[in-house]
Amino acid sequence: MNTSISINPATEEKIAEYERLTTSETMSKIEDAHQVYLTWKQTSLDERAQLMHKLAEEFETNTEHYAQIATSEMGKTIAQSRKEVEKCAWVCRYYADNTKDLLADTSVDTEAEKSYVTFQPLGVVLAVMPWNFPFYQAIRFLAPALMAGNTGVLKHASNVQGCAFAIEAAIIKAGFPKGIFSNLNVESDAIEAVIEHKHIVAVTLTGSGPAGQSVASIAGKNLKKTVLELGGNDAYIVLDDADLEEAVELATLGRLQNNGQTCIAAKRIIVLDKIYDDFLKLYKEKMEGAKMGEPTNENTYYGPLARLDLRDELHEQVKKTIAQGGKLILGGEIPKQKGAYYPATILADLEDGMEAFTEELFGPVASVIRAKDEAHAIALANTSKFGLGAGVITSDKKKGETIALQLEAGSCFVNKLVASDPRLPFGGIKTSGFGRELSGYGIKEFVNTKTIWVD
Ligand code: NDP
Repeated sequence: MNTSISINPATEEKIAEYERLTTSETMSKIEDAHQVYLTWKQTSLDERAQLMHKLAEEFETNTEHYAQIATSEMGKTIAQSRKEVEKCAWVCRYYADNTKDLLADTSVDTEAEKSYVTFQPLGVVLAVMPWNFPFYQAIRFLAPALMAGNTGVLKHASNVQGCAFAIEAAIIKAGFPKGIFSNLNVESDAIEAVIEHKHIVAVTLTGSGPAGQSVASIAGKNLKKTVLELGGNDAYIVLDDADLEEAVELATLGRLQNNGQTCIAAKRIIVLDKIYDDFLKLYKEKMEGAKMGEPTNENTYYGPLARLDLRDELHEQVKKTIAQGGKLILGGEIPKQKGAYYPATILADLEDGMEAFTEELFGPVASVIRAKDEAHAIALANTSKFGLGAGVITSDKKKGETIALQLEAGSCFVNKLVASDPRLPFGGIKTSGFGRELSGYGIKEFVNTKTIWVD
């Protein structure tokens, strides 16, 4: 039997095994999604919004149920899983309340008697999603897609199929028509045939660079639109006028939340020379004090990584960075205990070319970099091949904003950790991807922006 297996990364125990779909089962789910699309696209926005509010209500009422599944399958702390489920409800309500405005026809003055732009659905959209925010990543795609009149199929990460099926069940429970959204439990090598299917009109993927390259090239070959949200190794610049306590607090949360597995995490912390040593001393204390432990424990600050292989891969990157001259300040050793745990780790004095400076480290490992001055800090930040979410920490907000405008990233936050917010666009530049999710920009990625001219 071909299956995907969910393993609790905190205990290494098997949770469940899910049978994979055969090719014909996969194709028939795409066909179902297309059939539903033909009627769904005719529904009114009010009808769609009513169902979307019901879905939000489901996430709000049964938060604990969904949070427990996420924590058991990928190890994030239960408190953070609850927040993730609540955020799903927020996204659903945002699109339920705002799609009418976001997709309103736009009249344009021309020589025509009447000319305007209207936004129409496209069909069945494929989402390929990762395990790090197993509910939110899928809903962030699905809420705008359904509100725009599209339908969807999901290829979720193999280690979080419990979450994937829970999303499918939530949608049915909310009252959406059966088949509007299906989880395709297939291996990644089955995705080529899915993308090639005549009823798949577009693809959105969140995940690693290699996954993005593969999916985008298949989609490109088939002339199907893609939105890619890939990794990041973004810079948080700490200026020398920053409140050190606050900067350290942000850098700790930024690197440890979601057990260090967030695309927009504060991964490269670039600190100005004048405060570098003080920052590092305080940062070490703070990171050392953060409690690693069982993710179901309410007092745990961070839990295990999502899989043992990901933990081992991370450790190899840490070792490589040290071999290249990076200084190990804290952590850096695999603890002798069951579970995919990795301790809070700080690598300092990093330079361009070292593994942790150049590549994404997806775990609780912070890279600290010394900058001579502000111009040097900006140059170090922008030398990265990634450009997802960057930050500036300073007591001079005006200066922070000026620097934010110069950083090469899809989002730049001053004195706050970068976070996705349904009201604002989210996405990257350079190898962090292209296209945007969320807000009016996100919902317009998968519509036909259509010109109507009446003479
Ligand atoms: P992947 O990018 O491999 O997985 C993400 C999703 O893509 C999963 O659903 C996966 O399915 C699918 N996938 C992978 N390869 C292909 C392919 N060739 N064609 C179609 N679908 C594919 O992430 P991993 O779980 O392997 O993690 C590896 C690294 O990726 C991490 O260490 C991290 O650096 C980065 N990553 C970054 C994320 C981010 O948000 N920036 C999120 C997740 C990972 P399946 O699970 O079946 O392989």
